[in-house]
This record gives sequence, C-alpha cells and structure tokens, in this order.
Amino acid sequence: MRELIIIGGGAAALSAGMYALGKQIDFVMIYETLGGKAGWRQSLTGQEEVEYLAGEEAVRIFERKIAMQTDRTIRDTVTTVQRTDQGFRVETRNHEVLEALAVIVATGATPVRLQAPGAHELLGQGLGYSVTTHAHLLAGKTAAVIGATHRALRGVAELARTAEKVYLIIPDPDAASLPMMHAISQRPNVEILSGYTVDEVAGPMNVEEIIVSRNGQQQRIPVDAAFVDLGLRPCSEFVRHLVRTDQEGFIWVDERMATTVPGIFAAGDVTTSFGEQVLIAIGDGARAALSAYDYLLMRTPMTR
Ligand SMILES: Cc1cc2nc3c(=O)[nH]c(=O)nc-3n(C[C@H](O)[C@H](O)[C@H](O)COP(=O)(O)OP(=O)(O)OC[C@H]3O[C@@H](n4cnc5c(N)ncnc54)[C@H](O)[C@@H]3O)c2cc1C
Repeated sequence: MRELIIIGGGAAALSAGMYALGKQIDFVMIYETLGGKAGWRQSLTGQEEVEYLAGEEAVRIFERKIAMQTDRTIRDTVTTVQRTDQGFRVETRNHEVLEALAVIVATGATPVRLQAPGAHELLGQGLGYSVTTHAHLLAGKTAAVIGATHRALRGVAELARTAEKVYLIIPDPDAASLPMMHAISQRPNVEILSGYTVDEVAGPMNVEEIIVSRNGQQQRIPVDAAFVDLGLRPCSEFVRHLVRTDQEGFIWVDERMATTVPGIFAAGDVTTSFGEQVLIAIGDGARAALSAYDYLLMRTPMTR
C-alpha cells in the first residue's frame, strides 16, 4: 500500500509529483504520456517566432526529474478507481493493481475535433483550438471561431477587441440563444453564422477559407485563421462512479482541490476549476498535493 497515487502525466500531475517528491511522500504516478498537452503548438500564417508558452519550461524540468524516478512511474492507462477499507485500489489497462491511501486525478480533457475535410491537414497551419493563445496575432486581420461553447464566445469577444472581422460559426442554431450571445452580437465587427455547418477548411499550406453551408447554400469565408471550440471531454470516466462531476464529467473540486470523496483530489483541466492553462494546472497540481499531504498527515503515522 502506497501513500499516494497520482493519475496523469501533464502539468498538473507533474507539479503534484514534484511536491510529493519534496515532501518525501511514498507515491507512484501512472500516466499515458509524460508532459501531457503543455507545449502543444499551433502556428499561424506569417507568425515568425515560436510562441512563448508560460509554464512550459517548468513542465519540462518537472518531466525530467519525474522521469528519473523509475520506481515511482508507470506508463499505463488507469481503467478504474475503487474504494477499499484502507483507501483506494487503482487498476490499469495492463492489469496492474495498486493501492494507496490517497489519489490525485490529473488526467486532463480532450478537445472535440472538427470533422471536416482539411481540418486535420491544416491543424497548426492557421487552424487552432485555443483562441486565447493566438488572439493577439490577429490584430487587424480576419478570424473565424467555430463552436458555441462559453470558451468559443469568450474567444470571439477577445478577438473582436483587435481583429478587423470575426465570424462566429455555430453549427447548432439553438445555441444562438445562449446569454453571452447577445453581448457578442452587439460588436460591429462580429458576424454570427447560426445553423451553418463547416464543409471544408481550405488553403493549400495555411487556412485561407472556411467553406460553410446552410440549407444547401454554400458560402466561402476568407480568413487569416480559424479556431475550433466544440467543447472539451474530461478524461474522468474511470472515477465518475465515485466522485461528483458536472453534467459533462468535469470533476467537482473545492478550493483545496478536494473532491466529494475524502482522500481523492483532482487537479488541472479535468476539474470544474476555471481556466485551462498550463500555469493554472501547475498551481492546481501543487495545491492538490499539499491537500493530499495534509490528508495523509491527519490519517496515518506515516512511518517508514
Ligand atoms: C491546442 C491547445 C493549445 C493550448 N495552448 C495553450 C497555451 O498557449 N497556453 C496555456 O497556458 N495553455 C494552453 N493550452 C492548455 C494547456 O495545454 C492545458 O491547460 C494543460 O496542459 C492542462 O494540464 P493537465 O495536466 O490538466 O492536463 P493534460 O496536459 O491534458 O495532461 C493529462 C495527462 O493525463 C494522462 N491521462 C489521461 N487519461 C489517463 C488515464 N486514464 N490513465 C493514465 N493517464 C491518463 C495523459 O496522458 C496526460 O499525461 C492549450 C491546450 C490545447 C489543447
């Protein structure tokens, strides 16, 4: 029986791992990929420099230090977490069974992909999934945002501050009644295309046009960049039977990153906490590890 199992290998899990190392907690980290999504890059046409990603250096340092802990790391996929008399049992796809007094879930969330010709090929070539990363590069230019999530609408508002023109393409016409939509529709440089589906993302090397249609009528929209935000899917399936989540499966956490089950903590994009950013995930991970440490201190003599 270990003291702590950390599930995930991204910014949040690595930061929790660094904290656990510092506190000499007997932990193991189970991850599919080390580093997670920190450092995913998507460039735009005319972008000269590689974008600075705040927090990336820290993640790379954590990654190297954690990778050296060969007796504390397992590359595998967690399939279920169960409660036991003592703590928790964690099972993996490769039939590992591990037990621990506490668990930190830091498995992130996956963006829903745009399924349209060109969307895969032009990913990172003017087609991106993170408005907030690139909004400042679109001053005086034309951009499209595809989707009607809160993040998509927020992204349109951010782009509209400096871009010449922003198209909001909403496949689901019912989404046009979302509360934030009213504020967006008041911006003079925003055009909302509601009920339009994306037929193609076009351009030989970089995105140059978004081809959309409604009721069989096709329209070509020239753009400098396009962003997709059709939602995020939290990687929380293996723990949803235990902890409270919201409707989409994001794990509910309090300000200490504690879930509704004592001994299970969560951090980063998989949680309901606000802001999908590397720096936020790093902070979340450290806070989850600190809370897990407090939990262990109150619960066990922690003798070696
Ligand atoms: C396209 C894109 C661009 C972005 N740009 C920026 C940016 O410019 N600036 C910024 O700050 N943020 C950006 N972000 C957001 C940032 O990448 C995330 O907020 C951050 O990486 C979240 O860290 P995390 O540890 O919570 O999750 P992740 O990085 O997603 O890590 C999750 C980890 O859990 C592992 N995992 C998942 N399921 C299991 C399982 N069942 N068993 C074991 N392991 C599992 C994965 O392998 C991975 O290691 C961007 C995100 C995307 C998608």
